[in-house]
Amino acid sequence: MCLICDRIAMIKSGNNPYFVKELDTGYVVIGDNQHFYGYSLFLYKNHDYTELYQLEKNERLRFMEEMSIVAEATAKAFGPEKMNYELLGMGDAHLHWHLYPRRKGDLENYGHNGVGPVWWYPMEKLYSDDNRPSTEELEGMKNKLLTELEKLI
Ligand SMILES: [Zn+2]
Repeated sequence: MCLICDRIAMIKSGNNPYFVKELDTGYVVIGDNQHFYGYSLFLYKNHDYTELYQLEKNERLRFMEEMSIVAEATAKAFGPEKMNYELLGMGDAHLHWHLYPRRKGDLENYGHNGVGPVWWYPMEKLYSDDNRPSTEELEGMKNKLLTELEKLI
């Protein structure tokens, strides 16, 4: 099983504390680590595809549309200056969007004078336990994101 499928299985069994909402093509979750406050993900439901271009056209358009809605809700819930969108997957090929709210100064002194993509922030700091939300913070974030999502769908 892949990491994304594991997380989806936890959602289906009611045991994923980061789960926010199920949409037609995927699941909305809050990211485990919150250095980039409001970091959220949109996990595609089907493990069998690794590239957007492999999806049947209407499904692909729906997946893209829903990702855009999740990004808009994330922006409205957490108030960044800019959203960043990433569909990666050399580690976990299962289609999933990383949605990063960005703010000036969030790279600290990394990147080009503090400017650049999120992966220029050191991995050990990005995934530090120090920036995991508490249970209470996580509940607050989920409620904010769900409220904004439900206004858009
Ligand atoms: Zn998978």
